[in-house]
Amino acid sequence: MNYFSSNFKLGILGGGQLGKMLLYTTRKFDIHTSVLDPSDEAPSRLACDHFVQGDLMDFDTVFNFGKHTDLLTIEIENVNVDALDALEKEGVKVYPESKTLRTIQNKAIQKQFYINNNLPTAPFSRFLHISELNTAISEGNLSFPFVWKSAQFGYDGNGVKIIRTEKDLQGLPKGECIAEELVPFKNELAVIVARNLSGEIKTYPVVEMEFHPEANQVEYVICPARIPDAIAKKAELIALKTAKAFNHIGLLAVELFLTEDDDIIINEVAPRPHNSGHQTIESSYTSQFEQHIRAILNLPLGNTNNKTNGVMVNLVGSEGYKGNVVYSNIKEILKMPGVTPHIYGKKQTRPFRKMGHVTIINKDLVEARKIAEAVKSTVKVISS
Ligand code: ADP
Repeated sequence: MNYFSSNFKLGILGGGQLGKMLLYTTRKFDIHTSVLDPSDEAPSRLACDHFVQGDLMDFDTVFNFGKHTDLLTIEIENVNVDALDALEKEGVKVYPESKTLRTIQNKAIQKQFYINNNLPTAPFSRFLHISELNTAISEGNLSFPFVWKSAQFGYDGNGVKIIRTEKDLQGLPKGECIAEELVPFKNELAVIVARNLSGEIKTYPVVEMEFHPEANQVEYVICPARIPDAIAKKAELIALKTAKAFNHIGLLAVELFLTEDDDIIINEVAPRPHNSGHQTIESSYTSQFEQHIRAILNLPLGNTNNKTNGVMVNLVGSEGYKGNVVYSNIKEILKMPGVTPHIYGKKQTRPFRKMGHVTIINKDLVEARKIAEAVKSTVKVISS
């Protein structure tokens, strides 16, 4: 199949920042793209060839969009999987496959998959309704503390809550959920794996994710992680085993906990480019976005080594600001060494909304982390 400057049409479900960055590569390779997103102001809109506004969860919308493409991929997991299943039956290639998305979309099913495949993850119980979880507590079958997670539609930590007392249960959504053992971790790590249809498979260096304490969102990504080689190797092996268990095609970002006992356990996976790989645009020989395109098209995978060390800072809406976005002090951070801002193009800001990110590259990781902190305290996402 010829993809380059041809009639081939790549469809992308979701037109957010991940889609926009995937399009850096399709522009570079001159691959024709169509994007479906509910917002007519989606960040991807300008860079794709064809844009369709529509509901990603609606069967007919996704099916009709997919029918006009040769290969469909996603930049968000919450899409209508039945439509993807139907498209596969009609001969449209869908990567990641609908069955993989079905497993990943529901955290209870995803966790059960790890257990069935002998992959390490924290023990959990599944509840179809919050009342079942309450009963488990009152009957002594579930005790504090634990981590409540909504089975579906959580993102950026908003479907997750640490439950330490009875009071923390108040106001939890009623739907299907899991209660997971609270893991006292030293570190949160992530490994991005790329795999193509021919079975070629590669991992990116293990990264360390530092979280914002209140927003439960990644604040800094540090690449490579500041951990011993033996632990990094263990994390890479688990990530590889996970991608193989899914028979995955495309990128699989594997989020991991490094426990107090130096065990590595899987938190969750994302079957797409991931926030923990944004720095690869500047720090790696092959960006995660180019790699995803290579993997789904069954092209040879690119070199995943770092050209240099990198730190990524998320640019999120400042607290107390809502409305038309203004980026203050961008010029100041451009003066700093090795700094590249990425502005996603969302018109409206609100507290903690992901509006952009900044990559800092430097051969000295300690220095890169310092500059990242300076970036964070200089640039502000506010409103006019
Ligand atoms: P999301 O799908 O919204 O990203 P995650 O399952 O990754 O949610 O959880 C968000 C964050 O909550 C994690 O990055 C971690 O900091 C914390 N967390 C999740 N599960 C556990 C756990 N079992 N023990 C301790 N902390 C957890």
